[in-house]
Amino acid sequence: MSPRGGETFELVEVPTQRPRSPVDPDHLGMLLREAFGFQAFLPHQEEVCRAATLGENVLVVMPTGAGKSLCYQLPGIARAGTTLVISPLIALMEDQVQKLGASGFAVERIHSGRGRAEARLVCQRYLDGVLDFLFIAPERLSVPGFVEFLARRRPALIAVDEAHCISLWGHDFRPDYRLLGQRLALLRPAPVIALTATATPLVQQDIVGQLGLEPVRTFIHGFRRDNLALEVVEVRPGERPARASALLAERNRRPAIVYAPSRKASEALADELSRRYPAAAYHAGLVAEVRDQVQSRFLGGSLEVIVATIAFGMGVDKANVRTVVHLALPGSVESYYQEIGRAGRDGEPAAAVLFYSHADRWTHERFHVRDYPEVEVLERLYRALREVKVPRAVLQTALKLSAEVFEPALEKLWIHGGVEVSPEEELSVGNPGWVTSYRAQRELRHKQLELMFRFADGHDCRMLHIVRHFGDRADSGVPCGRCDRCAPAASLATSFRPISSAELMQVETLLGGLRQADGQSTGRLCKQCLGESPADRKLGDRLLDALVRGGVVRLAAASFEKDGATIHFTRAFLTSTALHPVDLTALTLPEELAPVVLSPKKKKPPVKSGKQSRAAAPVSSAGSLDLLPVLKAWRLQEAKRRRVPAFRILTDKALTALATDRPKSLTELLEIPGIGPKIAKTYGAKLLALCGG
Ligand code: ADP
Repeated sequence: MSPRGGETFELVEVPTQRPRSPVDPDHLGMLLREAFGFQAFLPHQEEVCRAATLGENVLVVMPTGAGKSLCYQLPGIARAGTTLVISPLIALMEDQVQKLGASGFAVERIHSGRGRAEARLVCQRYLDGVLDFLFIAPERLSVPGFVEFLARRRPALIAVDEAHCISLWGHDFRPDYRLLGQRLALLRPAPVIALTATATPLVQQDIVGQLGLEPVRTFIHGFRRDNLALEVVEVRPGERPARASALLAERNRRPAIVYAPSRKASEALADELSRRYPAAAYHAGLVAEVRDQVQSRFLGGSLEVIVATIAFGMGVDKANVRTVVHLALPGSVESYYQEIGRAGRDGEPAAAVLFYSHADRWTHERFHVRDYPEVEVLERLYRALREVKVPRAVLQTALKLSAEVFEPALEKLWIHGGVEVSPEEELSVGNPGWVTSYRAQRELRHKQLELMFRFADGHDCRMLHIVRHFGDRADSGVPCGRCDRCAPAASLATSFRPISSAELMQVETLLGGLRQADGQSTGRLCKQCLGESPADRKLGDRLLDALVRGGVVRLAAASFEKDGATIHFTRAFLTSTALHPVDLTALTLPEELAPVVLSPKKKKPPVKSGKQSRAAAPVSSAGSLDLLPVLKAWRLQEAKRRRVPAFRILTDKALTALATDRPKSLTELLEIPGIGPKIAKTYGAKLLALCGG
């Protein structure tokens, strides 16, 4: 835990600066070609570079692979001085240093992986003004005297990479980033450019506030990935590894990254896959050399699949990843988006397949309980703190808390300012305001998970959902045409089967319900047409999805406010297609959903609530409860198609008899009053199907 102690920086003489001249912002294109060897700017790079070169504070939120590094590197060179880059990961830093060095720039870094003597040498070079870029790890700024030392020569530009780490509301908050705003103040008026791939509007605001960027230019762009087909499949946890393995069996779906929920899961799948092609696990439990080796083999192409926990990937730049598979639901849309961002950076078609089920909720709940202790636990700790410092171990013993409880509680209390921690880990009382901010962060984590479920359960275009999540207002708003919602037939991991006759009946019931009240909520519709149990609801959702795929129904997200909370729901609308005859037998359902088979005489379980269970179902006997509205809906549809009154198709009497008797054969059908050979010939097969035959 920071702050880290023991080290201080002495100030040394400031030598003369290396002469360099600033580049006119109108000539950035030339600098791009000459210094960086790129022929043209990628989308939005030029406007960002121009603003940063002019000395404006800038917030850049663009996805992984959009070319954000250039957005600080080019202005840094154009402003002719040293650019200070704050970067959270050593691997990320080393990668950038190596690339910039290879392009002929004077670049150095200071992080925990470097010796004291090396760090001093780097500092000297910084003061000599010979560096184009100096990369520093955020925790360095907590070393007493270090910022004052840097301030002896004001940088030309300060870049804060992975800036979402500064925000408690982000998915990847890093305590070392917490003090960045305060520490960097000494280095101003150098302009600051903050960059991140994943920041919701809330996180964006927080970055701007904490780093003191106002007035700021924000560039929030490019969340849409045109070459990425997103797919979400509901699969039981135990079946997911086999599904992933089947998915990746095709050569052209590799190289691939599989994100696994645990180290054990990552090793098990990597073992299994490596029997067929080079694959390996990657997780935080492996020693650093093994991890580095796995990463470089994957980057170099000798490994085709890497099965990783989330420890893998920040800053990994491998252009030809064809598939990203998630074996479990990520905790937030931000994490998900960052992880799928590693697929298809070369612009060629790529896929991201997410396996999930509502069982994932319990896994996340467990993580949540572990990582975010109850407020009361933190309160106990806080109440025991005084102005006088007390060693951490003494307090833990006094409170009789186990390390598993004490450590996360102390960390969270520190993050939220409730405790001061000295470098020697002595604790003293902090600011009482911690409660509000901790509570808010704890709740936010829940909300992020809810939003992730909403994405997974969502009926609309997956890509559009993401674009809206990040507030990319410049986006076209057009459905992507590639995801499992837009193009279900192209799905990699979902196969579809034809609809069963029993399901067909249920679909017609749903349509009947919508004809009576178009635009009603899917919850109400399913309850009234199918039943109240969770299984009925789930089936109803799948049937509605089938209708959406068939173009008959359109679903739209809606919400209302209740007791200060926003309640989200979905409305179902008939499309114009529904006004014409539609061949509903062509509808399809996911293979993993076992077909509903209804015995001809089977009745729906009675609805428990006292409310009327079927919307306007004028029924004459208990046996006809299910079928009559279905038959009526079908008759109406047929009547419209033939442009005749409904009774000309079949009389009410015949319909009621059909619903009650449910004929199983042509012979039985002909016994129904009002049904003669002509009707049997024209509608016999259809009527028998509707009756569950
Ligand atoms: P990000 O930080 O947004 O994830 P990077 O800065 O790593 O993206 O850039 C992604 C890739 O795009 C890198 O390989 C980089 O060299 C390349 N790149 C950046 N700018 C340009 C450009 N103007 N033209 C061509 N390639 C570029």
